[in-house]
Amino acid sequence: MTFLRPTLLTLACLFAGQIGASDLPSLGDASSSIVSPQQEHQLGRAWLGLLRGQVAQLDDPQLKDFVETSVYRLSETSQLQDRRLEFVLLNSPQLNAFAAPGGIIGVNGGLFLYAQTEAEYASVMAHELAHLSQRHFARGVEAQQRMQLPVMAAMLAGIVAAAAGAGDAGMAAIMSTQAAAIQEQRRFSRQNEQEADRIGLLNLEKAGYDPRAMPLMFERLMRQYRYDAKPPEFLLTHPVSESRIADTRNRAEQYPAQGREDSLRYQLMRARVQLTYEETPGVAAKRFRAMLDENPGLDAARYGLALAQMKTGQLGEAGQTLAPLLSKAPEDIVYNLAQIELDMAANHLDAAQRRQERMFALYPSNYPLQQAHIDLLLKQQRTREAERALDELLKNRAKDPDVWYQVAEVRGLSGNTIGLHQARAEFFALVGDYNQAIEQLDFAKRRASNNFQLASRLDARQRELAEEKRLVEQMLR
Ligand SMILES: [Zn+2]
Repeated sequence: MTFLRPTLLTLACLFAGQIGASDLPSLGDASSSIVSPQQEHQLGRAWLGLLRGQVAQLDDPQLKDFVETSVYRLSETSQLQDRRLEFVLLNSPQLNAFAAPGGIIGVNGGLFLYAQTEAEYASVMAHELAHLSQRHFARGVEAQQRMQLPVMAAMLAGIVAAAAGAGDAGMAAIMSTQAAAIQEQRRFSRQNEQEADRIGLLNLEKAGYDPRAMPLMFERLMRQYRYDAKPPEFLLTHPVSESRIADTRNRAEQYPAQGREDSLRYQLMRARVQLTYEETPGVAAKRFRAMLDENPGLDAARYGLALAQMKTGQLGEAGQTLAPLLSKAPEDIVYNLAQIELDMAANHLDAAQRRQERMFALYPSNYPLQQAHIDLLLKQQRTREAERALDELLKNRAKDPDVWYQVAEVRGLSGNTIGLHQARAEFFALVGDYNQAIEQLDFAKRRASNNFQLASRLDARQRELAEEKRLVEQMLR
């Protein structure tokens, strides 16, 4: 049931209602009953682990980097105070995005399919950031004056189940605890949505985007799905009504028309996502070629075609398709990464290495470039260097399970068995499997018994994870 994806916005609103749950357990006494930002943070992060453990994600470094960079940039002009954000990219072509307590931003790959310009994409992200900055989640809980952390946690658990495809079971869990709140929640939901639209518009304008992108996208979605029995899930949590469109339209029109509408970078990322969700790379190639025939200047279609050709193994053709882009913009990181990938696929490893060196001089801390470098080192069987490069990458991405997964693999290859178990422990903790995480540290400790310093570090980390596990279980009880 595709519409039962994580919709934390709905959740925020569910909490807003009178839960009337005097018979439900609450944590602590009434004086400590307001959800603190710290608790919100902990709960959100614990939830993120559960979500990651159960829902397929996109692990494309370029896409991850684009989402992270663009949302951080938006957050700078937003009202968000706590800017410790975590991102999760769900592998789904459905239109959806959500914000969860604790600074979690979730995006479906599908958002790139539906948002036709960068400003449209940014209007959705600005809306989500506004849910966070207004703390719609915690405010809903405060509205009942008593913290019902276990209820909140049960709801989150239910939503994970729903997101993982357990569908009705997850929904039933939510319904049974919250049936009485549904009616009241709708009113709060509309209020929250309206507030998120308004604050999001303000943020869009401040960040230099054209705020008209928001009503434009709403209008198009409404036209597209007016008579559709199964609209995209985002529209179920974010119904676009005439009045909502009119409200954002009126507000957007008050700003001078000078904001940015789109960027080539966004269109290139969009081509990557389109390729991902096309039936086969062959079908994608046909579609990109048709776009290019119609408009030979469409660089994003040319880029998409080159990637599609690469995927079908037509490496020579891919190189020819890519060449005009590289001569037009020789320093563009996205084009160069495509050429590096192509060189690696064709086993031209020296050429790939020379290009990487040139790119590192221009973009020294670029995550997708670092990842490409690691992949090349592994292909060259320079395992130790790959291991060091990964340790370097971890300095900026210590909470990225994709990185820890590869770290474990590479440490295994290089014979660093203690390091392998440590990396597995971090990976399992990030995907919410604390038992396995703690067990991995047991394995590591057994091997480190004659290295006192290392053993005590492992011990300390194991205690931290055990405490996190205890907190999560307490919240989910
Ligand atoms: Zn919303």
